[in-house]
Amino acid sequence: MKIHEYQGKQIFARYGVPIPKGQVAATVDEVVAAAEAVGYPCVVKAQVHVGGRGKAGGVKLAADAAAARGAGEAILGMDIKGLTVQQVLVEEAIGIAAEYYLGITLDRANQRNVLIVSAAGGIDIEEVAAKTPEKVLRVPIDPAFGLLPHQITAALYAAGIDAAAIREATRFIKLLDQAYRDIDASLAEINPLVLTTDGRVVAADAKINIDDNALFRHKELAALSEDALTDPLEIEAHRRGLQFVRLEAANLAGAAPAVGVIGNGAGLVMGTLDEVTRVGAPHGIGPANFLDIGGGARAEVVRNALELVVSNPDVRGVFINIFGGITRCDEVAKGILEATGALDLQVPLVIRLTGTNEDEGRRILAEQSSYQPYTDFGAAAAKIVELVAAA
Ligand code: GDP
Ligand code: MN
Repeated sequence: MKIHEYQGKQIFARYGVPIPKGQVAATVDEVVAAAEAVGYPCVVKAQVHVGGRGKAGGVKLAADAAAARGAGEAILGMDIKGLTVQQVLVEEAIGIAAEYYLGITLDRANQRNVLIVSAAGGIDIEEVAAKTPEKVLRVPIDPAFGLLPHQITAALYAAGIDAAAIREATRFIKLLDQAYRDIDASLAEINPLVLTTDGRVVAADAKINIDDNALFRHKELAALSEDALTDPLEIEAHRRGLQFVRLEAANLAGAAPAVGVIGNGAGLVMGTLDEVTRVGAPHGIGPANFLDIGGGARAEVVRNALELVVSNPDVRGVFINIFGGITRCDEVAKGILEATGALDLQVPLVIRLTGTNEDEGRRILAEQSSYQPYTDFGAAAAKIVELVAAA
């Protein structure tokens, strides 16, 4: 899960990391009010879940109220890498003497966390890393010992951090490391860490990613996760507690995301997406989403899932693929009846139903609906594509 810069800074501040005084604003008037509160010069910064905001024009300095208004007008509503800026962070500007990079992230290849330090921080760090990798120092952290004080000192000197900043940078790394472990982060990054013209060291940016699988033990952070979602369908899925991912038309090789897919088990659902992609390709039809109702789903979950999938205007047909193990086909059948009864479904629905309590499931559907579930996966996938293509 990604969180915004201002949220990351609030977390760092709790650990004692110095951050500039700042306020979040969502309208141009709020930008001006925030600028008046933090003082001039100030900096207006887009809050979106991507890096490279500086290069995209999403970070602007303002010397007075008129400039702050101009920056607010320019940045709010701006598109940065496909994301619309809805909030900005207005901060007191800091005089920059040097920009460094500090980060801790998970190095999966080496199965441990790694501290990354560079004296060449700022908006060009990716280029620095690509062209002059020797300027970006990587220190593996042994999970048995943690980050040791001598490693920090050695890294800062080897990276060429100015003598005037070493003491503070050492303190920052310790705090960063503590925060990283406490909140189950997969990335905690300060770029730039600024040595100011008056000799202070300040975090000018904050980037934190949190391991989704650890959110259950961080209730206060989990509350930010809805904020991290931008797609209204995914927000609704999150509210309903459903494992849902919308498939982007851009990733479907020209096919339309027309078939809503619901299944039980991530593997079966992914297999279903593949099969719909394969048989749909000649017709320009592809799957619209991933939705796993999980094992043992009750009727209510099925109803919830079906409602969500058909609320997507791109969906022109729905394919429910159930292989009943711990999921009971009769429960699924009840859910389908509840949903279709409540929804007045306007698109074709193809059901593949096999496994536990299959006979009971089929009997329920036969008695109370005209749905005739398939047993064979391939035949069912071909049928939904045929119906959508014909519609
Ligand atoms: P990013 O491009 O998304 O990583 O956004 P940053 O928060 O790192 O800002 C990009 C650049 O804007 C920084 O590297 C700084 O050079 C500049 N910047 C950010 N805040 C300030 C500030 O308070 N004062 C000054 N002078 N420059 C700033
Ligand atoms: Mn940055």
